Amino acid sequence: MARYRDANCKLCRREGEKLFLKGSRCMGPKCALERRQYPPGQHGQNMRRKVSAYGLQLREKQKVRRTYGVLERQFRNYFKKADAKTGITGANLIQFLERRLDNMVYRLGFAPSRKSARQLVRHRHIQVDEQIVDIPSYLIRPGQIIRVRDKSKKLDMIHEAMKMGRGEDYGWLRLNKAALEGELLEIPARADIPMTANEQLIVELYSK
Ligand code: SF4
Repeated sequence: MARYRDANCKLCRREGEKLFLKGSRCMGPKCALERRQYPPGQHGQNMRRKVSAYGLQLREKQKVRRTYGVLERQFRNYFKKADAKTGITGANLIQFLERRLDNMVYRLGFAPSRKSARQLVRHRHIQVDEQIVDIPSYLIRPGQIIRVRDKSKKLDMIHEAMKMGRGEDYGWLRLNKAALEGELLEIPARADIPMTANEQLIVELYSK
């Protein structure tokens, strides 16, 4: 399965904002964006280009795509599904991304980053409704229970991540910390999803 293998911090520096791709490191002074606030590459420090409307749309799309760790083709497929669904296309798009299993594992606080959450899923540490699911893009439906498998409950990564306490922040998720399990209570409204993006720019980009 294809995935991005280069340095994560380059992505934040390219977008000019923290995408929180590396767990606790993102909160501390070692964050690359804190130390080098310019785009990556040989000419990063001298870049002073005027950004076109297309450039703005492209950057917004890349930011959202990179935040959720999705490659271009899959992202475009989410857009097609969001466009075909009734409602606001941009909001539908963010809701689809939010329901991915790797994102749910991250939101519940079982992993310090979406990349680590993806690894937990791929390595078969996660169950959905009693079934092991090892597909990071699996879309969770309201009422489904996501839990860490019994034999995986002692993993250091999970305990370190739980200390960050992210899972308690959302009204649309129920978290049982002791049992390491959670439930998606409802599909969250766009306003309740903590993703700072102007998704209308993405809709404009893909609608050309
Ligand atoms: Fe981005 Fe985290 Fe790297 Fe900072 S430490 S640049 S927020 S991935």
